[in-house]
Amino acid sequence: MVATAFRFEMQTLTRLFFAVAVFVLMTAAPFHAAEPIRYRLSFPEPQHRWMQVDATFPDVAQATLEVRMSRSSPGRYSLHDFAKNVYDVHALGKSGREVETTRPDPYGWNVTGHGGTVTVKYKVYGDRLDGTYLAVDTTHAHINMPAALMWAHGLDDRPATVAFEQPPGSNWQVATQLHRGSTPLEFTAPNLQYLMDSPAEFGPIAMRQFTVGPRTFRLALHHTGNDGDADAFAKDAEKIVRQEGAIYGEYPEYEPGSYTFLIDHLPYADGDGMEHRNSTVITSPTAAGRTQLYDTVAHEFFHCWNVERIRPKGLEPFDFDRANLTDSLWLAEGFTQYYGPLVLQRAGLADLPATTGMIAGLIRGVTLSSGRDVRSAVEMSRMAPFIDGGRAVDRTNWSRTVISYYGFGGAIALALDLSLRDRTDGRVSLDHYMRAMWQTYGKPGGSREGYVDRPYTIGDAEETLAAVSGDRAFAHDFFAKYIEGRDVADYGRLLARAGFTLRKREAGRAWLGDVRLQSRDGARVATLVAPNWPVYATGLEQDDEVREIDGQRINGDTDVSAVLGRHKPGDRIAITFVDRTGRAKTATIALAENPQLEVVPADSPTDAQKAFRDAWLGPKRNDD
Ligand SMILES: [Zn+2]
Repeated sequence: MVATAFRFEMQTLTRLFFAVAVFVLMTAAPFHAAEPIRYRLSFPEPQHRWMQVDATFPDVAQATLEVRMSRSSPGRYSLHDFAKNVYDVHALGKSGREVETTRPDPYGWNVTGHGGTVTVKYKVYGDRLDGTYLAVDTTHAHINMPAALMWAHGLDDRPATVAFEQPPGSNWQVATQLHRGSTPLEFTAPNLQYLMDSPAEFGPIAMRQFTVGPRTFRLALHHTGNDGDADAFAKDAEKIVRQEGAIYGEYPEYEPGSYTFLIDHLPYADGDGMEHRNSTVITSPTAAGRTQLYDTVAHEFFHCWNVERIRPKGLEPFDFDRANLTDSLWLAEGFTQYYGPLVLQRAGLADLPATTGMIAGLIRGVTLSSGRDVRSAVEMSRMAPFIDGGRAVDRTNWSRTVISYYGFGGAIALALDLSLRDRTDGRVSLDHYMRAMWQTYGKPGGSREGYVDRPYTIGDAEETLAAVSGDRAFAHDFFAKYIEGRDVADYGRLLARAGFTLRKREAGRAWLGDVRLQSRDGARVATLVAPNWPVYATGLEQDDEVREIDGQRINGDTDVSAVLGRHKPGDRIAITFVDRTGRAKTATIALAENPQLEVVPADSPTDAQKAFRDAWLGPKRNDD
């Protein structure tokens, strides 16, 4: 433990030096920039998956320093309460002696009697490899800053330094959007917002790099593949980057001088992607194929414009103490969701069946789900703090009252893209709209790193559509119907322009609803029953046990299919079930036609349809 003691002494000396320097500066000049907050990250036992953090807050003017663990993380919309993995917390004052802390709430430590400098030392456990949490093991440390770093109220504008220490016997590298510091393992951030937005991968990294015009893009790969895999991946990522650049006409100015893809493609990774200002974290289990990885690359990179800089007002600035609320995730996430697969098609990384499958999926989600009867796209966005966290502990009825803003917004993007092309014979498209949002709100907004100067409102988004389409009435109508209202666009007519047919996949087939049965001690209903299913009117609900349909004993889903196969839409058949209170009931189901939809390319598209489709799905050049 000699090395540790020595470092501690050095730190104390450094602190002393700074204190003297600060005193000199304070007496010499009326203004002085406060010293940076210093973080030291070390990994004495990576096999046990915890990290040691020493955080030093110098120049503390407050009598009580309120030190916090974040409750939320940029890019996530729900609470994660990262304090839950923190333990062995000690606060030291300026003298280096431990001082007492009090706990104002579960997420904070209040430090008094510190003498102007506070050092907090703690351990944080992390074993989830994704875009939100901390993952430490013998192969790497994958660090999402809010999951790992304590910060202090009132010091948002302080710069920070982050120093990484090699685990015993390792020779790891760091990849991050943090600015380079004085050594290869030291980095800086200009303020809290930027620091928290800057994840880091510390491990054996395979680096690849390419440039497009004046911009540099880096791939920091932690994977089980070989050099050839890394080269191929970089080549394909470049295709995606070029196609997305063509949509906006230019790339943002990435503050550290480059944009970094932090990619963990490992057997024990969770499938995830998380956008940041100048980087993205992409994690994927090795079992998941390339396609999924590319889709995430396309989605996350699109965010370097849409959400990171073209940012809804509700997300700016990001609040680490509580969940932000925005009404615009249909645009921030939904439009991004639409563009990911579309760009893969344009880049030659997806084929037409994959793209029509994506389109059909978006249309199905917004057309067939009963959620739209309850909430508009704006209201779905406001559900994000609840649904983004995954499953609730208690049961919810979200499957019939919520449509994810990803799919809902994707369907709106599809409708808007096709409507604009339809109205202008292809002269104006959603690409123009995104470019206008970038020019008006994203591009002029970077006076302070980590902040967005001109976040937009829904009114701004509508105003931009009015300008791009040259038709205020169209813009107002579109927003009123499909974004703030609960109408569904005429996708069939719009897709016909591109030579695609939207049709019922199970035309003529009888349907009672998408009920799923669990065949264990009887045929128990394993899904919520939606109001727009024919069987809803019988009173059947989740957990009830279906006994007979149309006089036939029901033991599972195949029995239901067999009954439906003998009937046609409009037939009325009996159902007998026992509800979960034990009461038996017999009722009548009025069968409907199965509403399931599919999108198929027309047999022989016209030249006009082919031209429309090519302009939409074909590759773009930067000057298009
Ligand atoms: Zn996203």
